[in-house]
Amino acid sequence: MEHSFDVIVIGGGHAGCDAAHAAARMGAKTALVTLKISGIGVMSCNPAIGGLGKGHLVREIDALDGVMGRVADKAGIQFRLLNRRKGPAVQGPRAQADRAIYRSEMLSEMQRHQNIQIIEGEVVDLLMESGAVKGVSLADGSEILARAVILTTGTFLRGVIHIGDVSRPGGRMGDSPAIRLAERIDSFGLPLGRLKTGTPPRLDGRTIDWSQLENQPGDDEPVMFSFLSQRPSARQVSCGITHTNERTHEIIRDNLARSAMYGGYIDGVGPRYCPSIEDKVVRFSDKPSHQVFLEPEGLDDPTIYPNGISTSLPVDVQEDYVRSIKGLEAVEILQPGYAIEYDYVDPRALDLRLGVKGIPGLFLAGQINGTTGYEEAAAQGVVAGLNAAAFSRDLDEITFSRTDSYIGVMVDDLTTRGVTEPYRMFTSRAEFRLSLRADNADQRLTGKGCDIGCVGATRAEAFQRKMDALAAGRAILEDRTYTPRELGEAGVALGQDGNRRTLYQVLALPDVNFEQLSALDERLADLESEVALQLKRDATYANYIERQKQDVMAVKRDESMAIPADFNFEAVDGLSNEIRAKLGRARPGNLAQAAKIEGVTPAALTLLLARIRKDT
Ligand code: FAD
Repeated sequence: MEHSFDVIVIGGGHAGCDAAHAAARMGAKTALVTLKISGIGVMSCNPAIGGLGKGHLVREIDALDGVMGRVADKAGIQFRLLNRRKGPAVQGPRAQADRAIYRSEMLSEMQRHQNIQIIEGEVVDLLMESGAVKGVSLADGSEILARAVILTTGTFLRGVIHIGDVSRPGGRMGDSPAIRLAERIDSFGLPLGRLKTGTPPRLDGRTIDWSQLENQPGDDEPVMFSFLSQRPSARQVSCGITHTNERTHEIIRDNLARSAMYGGYIDGVGPRYCPSIEDKVVRFSDKPSHQVFLEPEGLDDPTIYPNGISTSLPVDVQEDYVRSIKGLEAVEILQPGYAIEYDYVDPRALDLRLGVKGIPGLFLAGQINGTTGYEEAAAQGVVAGLNAAAFSRDLDEITFSRTDSYIGVMVDDLTTRGVTEPYRMFTSRAEFRLSLRADNADQRLTGKGCDIGCVGATRAEAFQRKMDALAAGRAILEDRTYTPRELGEAGVALGQDGNRRTLYQVLALPDVNFEQLSALDERLADLESEVALQLKRDATYANYIERQKQDVMAVKRDESMAIPADFNFEAVDGLSNEIRAKLGRARPGNLAQAAKIEGVTPAALTLLLARIRKDT
């Protein structure tokens, strides 16, 4: 084993793998040190990648030549584009993944890269010299040196697993926690907090009565994560859908005192957006049932993940309530649901590179920074990986902004506002969400990635071809202007305002398609369908993006506008209950103060501004 590297990444989870790969793509000699090689790429909770907001992050990771997207494409056993009926800005690619394929594909991505060396072991200490990091030491006493170290230990720092009133130390089910490392981080005086999250029981699919259940197939035309993937390689499967009922809720209500979350056994704050079934029954007591998706964990695996019923109730109660659900009357539980509580570092201790302020060479990424989710973790991994490599070679820092990416939004949110509960991505967190679409992540970031030096030759060439084709298509569309009469003859109905328009402007109209426009310029018929589709999306959003800029500028301009002391936040239409409650509690004096409250999104600020203007 070598003992000297440019970058050491601690942890082979989602943040760690994308961090190690990003550093390696930058040319840094990288050690990926993790507790178990078999744990590389393990999905601790749901067997799925992507979704609303999260799918955007995966596309951005891919645009920078990161690994999560292409691994998810190889492991995907059901692809669905969420919000398909809404506009592309809020559509989120999602895939169910075969856990075993995901793990083995991730491992081979790590093994294939010549700059990555995988080392199995527990990091117990960080080696320091003159206040800067210089390496790590392992539980077996060995030392590994590097100029930069990235910590990506997820839920392992002082992790405690809870099932009912039974609790024991654990990083996740089947793994020990990292206690010595947590103590070491504590000794640096970093601000630490405690968070919690939970997972549902895993069910034996062979004991489910599928004949009673609704079926949910994937999309007929799967939308892939990676800009380089064509189609799924694994067999595609359906999920089942069932529902909890009054009896299920009664069992849960009767046993709330025995739940780790409700019985007072856990101090940490949990994810509001991924509530446990106990939470749902209490918070939404008027709802007689909740949907449960029964998702296969793999093609050759009978394990089913019941999405929607995570819990920390004792095992006997889990058995009772699960068996009260239609189709699950005779189900066997393979692994009980549980909650986990763990340390996180207040991310305000970090800068935009995800480097720890005041400790040169130390970077943090993933759940350790108070986030939740594989995608949030991997995206931070990319930022930390690129910067650790840059630091180790005295190169300029690499940062992302709120205007170029969801990655930039997340890092800015974390480092300036911190977290009060596990942070997950939503499209509403981005003020520029009409331009930060999943479909154009490559147009936004691959060029930047090429400049940084983290994009390989295959992607760079494919990207250049696509950009050339888009530019050529756009040039045709903007070649000349047409009168409304000329357009009308091609079947494009416009008011007779006499204004001449380019075909790019016309393409922005909802019902206009390329076939109609090809009648006006036959060169358009030769465009590849993907290029035509992307031009249509870009044209559609062009006008809205202008409006978005004005909205953002309006909020900036009126930042100091006073919010009356008796302002009724409940009366602002369109705000979520969560944001209403946060504003009502904090009672900010102006918009700038409102913007600093964790969880108050740019979309909420626009709504708030409109209401203040209306009232005053
Ligand atoms: P992890 O994937 O946890 O990886 C950490 C890695 O660090 C592991 O490989 C581990 O072996 C390694 N490691 C730890 N300590 C050391 C050490 N001292 N030395 C060497 N290696 C070390 N996300 C959601 O979006 N929704 C949910 O509902 C949800 N529920 C969850 C429920 C549970 C019970 C758990 C455990 C997680 C849940 N998650 C959920 C979170 C999701 O699993 C994480 O957000 C994601 O895995 C974080 O990635 P990460 O890379 O930061 O950490």
